[in-house]
Amino acid sequence: MATLVSLDALTSKLREIHHLRDAAAVLSWDQETYMPPRSGAIRAEQLATLQTLAHNQFVSTDIESLLTSFLDIETGIILPEQQTSLDEPTHALLRETWRDFSRAKKLPSSFVNELERECSLAQQVWAEARKTNDFQRFLPNLERLVGLKRQEADYLGYTDSPYNALLDTYEPGSTVAQLRPLFAELRTHLIRLLDQIRNSPVQPNTSLLTQSFDTTKQVDFGRLVLKHMGYDFQRGRLDLSAHPFTTSFHPTDVRVTTRVFDADLPSCLFSCIHEGGHGLYEQGLPSKYYGTPLSEAISLGIHESQSRLWENSVGRSKAFWQYFYPKLQEIFPAQLGGVQADEFYFAINRVAPSFIRVEADELTYNLHIMVRFEIELDVIEGRVQVEELPEIWNAKIQEYLGITPPNDAEGVLQDVHWSFGAFGYFPTYTLGNLYAAMLFHQAKKDIPTLEKTIGEGNFLPLKNWLNDQVHQWGRQYSASELIQRVTGQALTPEPFIQDLEEKFGNLYQFSTQPHSQNPS
Ligand code: ZN
Repeated sequence: MATLVSLDALTSKLREIHHLRDAAAVLSWDQETYMPPRSGAIRAEQLATLQTLAHNQFVSTDIESLLTSFLDIETGIILPEQQTSLDEPTHALLRETWRDFSRAKKLPSSFVNELERECSLAQQVWAEARKTNDFQRFLPNLERLVGLKRQEADYLGYTDSPYNALLDTYEPGSTVAQLRPLFAELRTHLIRLLDQIRNSPVQPNTSLLTQSFDTTKQVDFGRLVLKHMGYDFQRGRLDLSAHPFTTSFHPTDVRVTTRVFDADLPSCLFSCIHEGGHGLYEQGLPSKYYGTPLSEAISLGIHESQSRLWENSVGRSKAFWQYFYPKLQEIFPAQLGGVQADEFYFAINRVAPSFIRVEADELTYNLHIMVRFEIELDVIEGRVQVEELPEIWNAKIQEYLGITPPNDAEGVLQDVHWSFGAFGYFPTYTLGNLYAAMLFHQAKKDIPTLEKTIGEGNFLPLKNWLNDQVHQWGRQYSASELIQRVTGQALTPEPFIQDLEEKFGNLYQFSTQPHSQNPS
């Protein structure tokens, strides 16, 4: 009886805290979509108040004493007398709540305040520095932030590298020791493929994507694709924002955004599909556990796997366009009426080195991530100084992509992440790509008619499979447990590399060589 009462007390307390966080999330969504231009200062105060309230309630003695009736608050180990009476989801709920609680408790509130202040300041300075292409202006802020993040790692504790503590925030369980060989293997294949693509005599005509396309019609088409994906507009919305994102206040209120440019057809389209993948994950989390970790995404890598699976494995596939291309031609007859489906398919799958990560293709995107990972690691482990970053950045982009950024705005200053202290975040993008390919390969095995149904515009078998295999579990499993459970394998780049070889081998007409060529 006591157990039931305190579990109820714990979950309703957690729900209350989530109400505060979700109210803050509504304000943030509004800030990015509809807020008038001069409301920024007061909105920042409103957000800070709600977030501080939520944080204080979470690290309160209330939560601590409720947790203490189930587990040892120092180690997180479930008390022996509770071991047998709790079911598996409750175990996971307590384990994950304790994880969040103990991490939050390790950071002194004075430190949290200082970090938050520094981040909000640094973001404004970064935006100006990028606009004026002036790294020196951002340098003192970035130096302070790096210092604070190293301090944060010390507070949180780590083995091997302080970077592990930061990585663990976004991708629990992931480590430098795991990423290094994984990225090295991936890199070898990406560089080889990129060479073959660059040397290919056939190249796509991408000018067909930069004609003038009515922006209202583009957004309508994005909405149509979202509906087909099974994104529920009774529990969600699509709006415009400068940077596309997905936010959720509950599985019954999940909002996605896109952006739209007259002379850039892929931007709006693939943003809709990408954010739609994130949105389906959030709509698929179990409402009955709302407020607890069992109604939250596992990690950023798994979240990104959902968006990338839809964007790349589905949205850039032949089957997808078999159904949607005639519809798109109907909407834009003057622009696409005379363009063959194959020509369009090649254009949206173009691979070419570029300076800006967010505009990079499926293949070179991961090289951008590796550059950031290596730089972050060197900075956080103290091997390089922040002032050296522009030079190091340019050298690495040259080494990985064979091009040199013309300026820092298109180089080291391009991403917002470091300005809000997000070190250890970038690797989750590539992890997402690898998980996506693994999951899609498994979906094809489990649903033999998958390609056929996609070609008919019916994505529900895939959506339902993802609901069952990934979404419904919340944080009951870790990323590695989930991927092992679903695919029977540990994380591997193989399916991803295989997909790239197959697709780009066909498009750019090079023979996909076997990985090893041992003369026998
Ligand atoms: Zn994403």
